[in-house]
Amino acid sequence: MAGIVVIFDFDRTIIDGDSDSWVVTEMGLSDLFHRLRSTLPWNSLMDRMMEELHFLGRTAEEIAECLKRTPLHPRIAAAIKSAYALGCDLRILSDANRFFIEKILEHHGLLGCFSKIYTNPSFVDEEARLRIFPYRDSALSPHGCILCPSNLCKGLVLDLIYGSAPEGERRTFIYLGDGRGDYCPTLKLQDSDYVMPRKDYPLWDRISSDPALVKAEVHEWSTGEELEKILLHLIDTISTEQSISGSNSSSQSNSSDCKLHMSVSSPEAF
Ligand SMILES: [Mg+2]
Ligand SMILES: [Zn+2]
Repeated sequence: MAGIVVIFDFDRTIIDGDSDSWVVTEMGLSDLFHRLRSTLPWNSLMDRMMEELHFLGRTAEEIAECLKRTPLHPRIAAAIKSAYALGCDLRILSDANRFFIEKILEHHGLLGCFSKIYTNPSFVDEEARLRIFPYRDSALSPHGCILCPSNLCKGLVLDLIYGSAPEGERRTFIYLGDGRGDYCPTLKLQDSDYVMPRKDYPLWDRISSDPALVKAEVHEWSTGEELEKILLHLIDTISTEQSISGSNSSSQSNSSDCKLHMSVSSPEAF
């Protein structure tokens, strides 16, 4: 199923919580974090937190050990392994950072399932301090998207992924996310694509506020069990459609059995 691309947000989607907040809390940085919160962009603030850990003599290995303890639902790990085994192209699009994401995925034996990770770069420098940098340097090249934080417009990355398809290859996208930053790419998904927002989280709220703005079919989830069931069902549905349309080009069946009917509330202004 090379024709199915599954794009996962990371924090509060693959893992239950937020990897940045997890490290800040677990490693005793909450006070400093809250003191500096209003003075620095999130990305720079996390780099500053890593500087503090280095100053306190805490190593990158200790940070990695801390990351390994962050909760990841076993059914979500199973869903990722199944989707990979079915031949889907799995990618991560996250505003966390490469070190945090890779350490967690590695620990759960999931890193090899992903063909690409688009996120803020990070590395351990010559002084053994973990550094975190923005995916995009907004001072050098602002992305101009009002929906997204200055360091990463996920919609632009989705454009890149759409644009990278070999000529004539038909690909269907499934996008899973929870946050405000996942709304921009959600608006860019096509009507043959799917979005799986985590119920009662900001992405779901934004989609709910004006469902007509989203072309993709929406399937909400709350638990790891639901994520697994819905994702594997969608993969099955898409691959059945692809094999039908491969043998009969007039077929345009659409899965309606778990189509989400979201309630419409007042549209949100941006
Ligand atoms: Mg998230
Ligand atoms: Zn954007």
